[in-house]
Amino acid sequence: MESKKLKETLALACRILGNNGHDDLNLGHLSARAIESQESIYMKGRRLCLSEACTEDLVTIDFNYKKVVGQRDTHSEMPIHIEIYKKRPDVNCVVHTHPIYATAFSATKQKLRPINNIATYFS
Ligand SMILES: [Zn+2]
Repeated sequence: MESKKLKETLALACRILGNNGHDDLNLGHLSARAIESQESIYMKGRRLCLSEACTEDLVTIDFNYKKVVGQRDTHSEMPIHIEIYKKRPDVNCVVHTHPIYATAFSATKQKLRPINNIATYFS
C-alpha cells in the first residue's frame, strides 16, 4: 500500500470511530506504521476530534518522538503508540479512544465480569 492510500484509510478510520461514539472532544487517536520507514508512524494531530480528521491533519512522527511531517502538533499521548510499535514489529495500527461507558466503568471499583453471551468468549 502506498503512503497516500494508507493516510486516507487512517483518516477515514478516525472519522468512522468519531461518528460511532468515540468522539471525546480532541481525545482519542489512531496511528499506523509509516510506509516510508518502519520506525515512524502516521497519527492524527492534536486539537482535533476524530470525526474531523482528514489526511492533512495527520502527522508523521519518528521513534524518537520527533515530528518529521505535518502541520499539527503531536498529541501528548503519542508515546503510547510509539512504544507499542517499538516493542511489537508485527503491529501496524494502534487505536486509543475514550469510549464513554468504559471510561465511566474504569472510575468504579467494580470487577470486569462477562455478563452477556458475547463476553463469555473472554471468561
Ligand atoms: Zn487517552
